[in-house]
Amino acid sequence: MMRYDVEAIRQDFPILQTTAHQKPLVYLDNAATSQKPQIVIDTLLNYYKQSNANIHRGAHYLAAKATEEYEQARETIRHFLGADSADEIILLRGVTEAINLIANTYGESQIQEGDEIILSVMEHHSNIVPWQMLCERKKAILKVIPINEKGELELQAYEKMLSERTKIVSIAHASNALGSIHPIKKIIDLAHQKGAIVVIDGAQGAVHLDIDVQELDCDFYAFSGHKVYAPTGVGALYGKRKILEAMPPYHGGGEMIKEVSFEKTTYNGLPFKFEAGTPNIADVIAFKAGLDYVQKIGKQNIHAHEDQLLQHATKQLNAIEGLSIIGTAAQKVSVVSFVVEGCHHGDLGTLLDAKGIAVRTGHHCAQPLMAHLGIKGTVRASFAMYNTLSEIDQLAVGIQSAIKMLK
Ligand code: PMP
Repeated sequence: MMRYDVEAIRQDFPILQTTAHQKPLVYLDNAATSQKPQIVIDTLLNYYKQSNANIHRGAHYLAAKATEEYEQARETIRHFLGADSADEIILLRGVTEAINLIANTYGESQIQEGDEIILSVMEHHSNIVPWQMLCERKKAILKVIPINEKGELELQAYEKMLSERTKIVSIAHASNALGSIHPIKKIIDLAHQKGAIVVIDGAQGAVHLDIDVQELDCDFYAFSGHKVYAPTGVGALYGKRKILEAMPPYHGGGEMIKEVSFEKTTYNGLPFKFEAGTPNIADVIAFKAGLDYVQKIGKQNIHAHEDQLLQHATKQLNAIEGLSIIGTAAQKVSVVSFVVEGCHHGDLGTLLDAKGIAVRTGHHCAQPLMAHLGIKGTVRASFAMYNTLSEIDQLAVGIQSAIKMLK
């Protein structure tokens, strides 16, 4: 393996050379969104300078060029997820839109009164609210897998919860709030034994973990481009062909149709049936550039680096008096959530920000988890391929000085 050259990687990200409050930026809010390498920014710019046209319909040079680049992006995403066919890759805005799509198509057509949908207590609001809305419409029941004190799912409770009434299990690959990696292969196999389908929210999984949707045998896997070094506003949903084919469409409009008349409209094949209207062409093409960049650095190398950051941060933060790390699962992505006795998380965040250190504070779109833990929020530092051990040291020093000021 080549030496992991974090300084060279940092040079690829222009924003990392900037300052915040006149201090060098220490960006530790990667679970919210990652920064973008120059190649992603250049791809966006070049698209508008050299390729811009509407896709799939036009009969001219630029339309063909833009269509080809767009479809190449779909192929890259197919490969990134290990899917069998690009027909199984739906391009959309991100995880939130993907889960709403599934709830409103698969859910709307399949769920009946008394059916059960299983989530975990640790889910992001975007993997709770669309299901809750569906359950309200259908008089279905939401069931919630509990966690242990480390922030790991209680698998025995999950097994007990499963029954012939379970129709959908929807679980994050990894928790954005605590970092816990869930044993999704096991969760999927157990759900399938009862005939339920499984949706994986890969918002945090896609950037940190290896994914092979065929090996996992998940029915859906969704992720957002902006967390994988690609632009905001684009994401992908993998779905098994058989399920996607049987699903009714989501949005109606151009592109998703085969033929329209006032008497009857027939729908396009996969994946276009789920892609009504002009898509976010430029950002999809830059999405490919982000994934290519990840492939170039190597997911294994990135994992090893991020794991080193996680271990170092855990050690440094544990040494701070009064600080408790929330979420100590055996398997974690590079996310450290913590609280400090006697200090409000929001105040800690503000004082860190004054030193140029960007962290997230609050409930992390996981209010039910915070309620379960009996806290209002945490401070969360989350690491990416370009973070350094020295930045973590700066975080630890920053927290210590913030505590002194607040106490
Ligand atoms: N699920 C998880 C676990 C997340 O971390 C996020 C983003 N914070 C989402 C879902 C929603 O993703 P998006 O806002 O990109 O749709």
